[in-house]
Amino acid sequence: MMIAYLDQQQRRRLVPDGDVEHGASGNSDQDILRALDVDAAVDVAPAAGDFGGMAFVLPARYLRPSTAEDIARVVRLAARSSCLTVAARGNGHSVGGQAMAGGGIVLDMRCLGPPVKLVLCGGAAAAVDVPGGALWAEVLDWSVRNHGMAPVSWTDYLGLTVGGTLSNGGISGQAFRRGPQVANVAELEVVTGAGERCVCSSSSSSDLFFAALGGLGQFGVITRARIPLVPAPKMVRWTRVVYRTFEEYAGDAEWLVTRPDSAAFDYVEGFAFLNDAADPVSGWSTVPIPAITGGFDPDKIPADSGPILYCLELALHYDHREADQVDERAEVMLQPLRYVRGLEFAADVSYVEFLLRVGRVEEEAREAGTWATPHPWLNLLISSSDIADFDRAVFKRILRRGVGGPMLVYPLRRSKWDTRMSVAVPESEVFYLVALLRFVPPCAGEAAVKEAVAQNREIVRYCESKGYDFKVYIPRYESEGEWAWHFGRDWALFVERKRQYDPAAILAPGQTIFSRARPLAAAAAIP
Ligand code: FAD
Repeated sequence: MMIAYLDQQQRRRLVPDGDVEHGASGNSDQDILRALDVDAAVDVAPAAGDFGGMAFVLPARYLRPSTAEDIARVVRLAARSSCLTVAARGNGHSVGGQAMAGGGIVLDMRCLGPPVKLVLCGGAAAAVDVPGGALWAEVLDWSVRNHGMAPVSWTDYLGLTVGGTLSNGGISGQAFRRGPQVANVAELEVVTGAGERCVCSSSSSSDLFFAALGGLGQFGVITRARIPLVPAPKMVRWTRVVYRTFEEYAGDAEWLVTRPDSAAFDYVEGFAFLNDAADPVSGWSTVPIPAITGGFDPDKIPADSGPILYCLELALHYDHREADQVDERAEVMLQPLRYVRGLEFAADVSYVEFLLRVGRVEEEAREAGTWATPHPWLNLLISSSDIADFDRAVFKRILRRGVGGPMLVYPLRRSKWDTRMSVAVPESEVFYLVALLRFVPPCAGEAAVKEAVAQNREIVRYCESKGYDFKVYIPRYESEGEWAWHFGRDWALFVERKRQYDPAAILAPGQTIFSRARPLAAAAAIP
């Protein structure tokens, strides 16, 4: 007998009821797809593209699971086929097809339940249980509105899913102090490539827990995450200050991220920008805090400044009762920094407003038409020992005309990343996130996209040729050799975990690490 599960919104069949072994009339891929049947009107097109706008691969089915058990059944059914794969699609904000499954099954994780739930952990401690497809913006809204609490580690942009960022890392200005999002998870529920539902944590099924964190979706679909909460700060003093030289910028930024917690800001980020009035996306106008602070006064730029300047972005949390001390606190903390006096911008905003700041950038990009155009983005993690050379060779030479969007560069600390997780980071204690967030104007055409992709390759090749201690963050490689290089000495463990949790290589085919067509044994060449 088929059925039982009905999608709450679509009222459609999703998977056969009961023993899936008997749900399909045969074992061919077509039989299996028919068993999944769903009405032919299900539109697969939205699952064939992503935010990158450069990869397009049609799946055979785009399903809307609402329970973890739905997902387990789909995976078990796919396992019976010869080559069907299953990709969880968060909000499709990958830029290189990572959430796609050509000819396979894509799961729309946004439909997954159950609703967000508060978990009391004893004493004052609390956490929130969220479905893997929840957006971080939804987690923020729910936690702050209902309980005045919030997670401690965020991404800059909150239109990303919990399962999507936990499969990568989840980095923002809190990470230097609180760790990335992958380091702020108490428990996961995961559906493995064998179609088993497992609850795991650092003390129970810990290998699966650490495998899934930063695991690029290779070991299981994250159906639920338990995220610790703390009382949400009320207000944020949001400050931007401008630097003339990279040496002063990086020196101050590294000093700030290595200060003891009692003397540290709550958030440290920064970006490089063009010393240029005319460029609206990479020049002076990107420095003032949008719609809040006054404009950029070019007379304050020292005459001997170069073509690239740097902006440190800092935040200090406070409550209303501390409001009368925040000026003094901020002044004391800023006083030792070597930024250009007169080029500082400060605003007081609510904590929620601060965390939603990139939402405004999204609105503007949508209006300008650049949200829907290709995004050949490149994210790198580069050790502090190599970052000055990178500045000279990449920011000041290769990227001297900018990237048509933000060029983030700010330090993080390796000790805040648990090395048992799958995510690959540089060896040195202080390393920088470099994010080249390219927005291609609608009129620029394909040649501009190709040029940007070629420039990204040139940058990665440069880092390799100089023997940098670096990793690509949210990596995109095609060959096994490149993946082995990416994971380095942890490649053997990565392959072993794949063998254990997804031996038929069903999950997350869009990452192009393993393939159902190539047996895992052959993929286990260990450097
Ligand atoms: P998707 O792109 O849908 O999926 C990403 C990968 O994870 C795919 O392989 C997919 O199969 C897998 N996956 C998705 N959900 C699950 C799940 N539940 N279980 C297992 N695997 C799953 N990153 C940062 O760290 N910090 C930032 O500040 C930041 N800002 C961004 C801003 C924008 C505008 C964009 C487009 C991206 C940004 N990112 C940032 C990158 C972001 O972390 C990645 O795009 C990530 O993939 C999350 O996007 P998503 O939730 O849409 O996941």
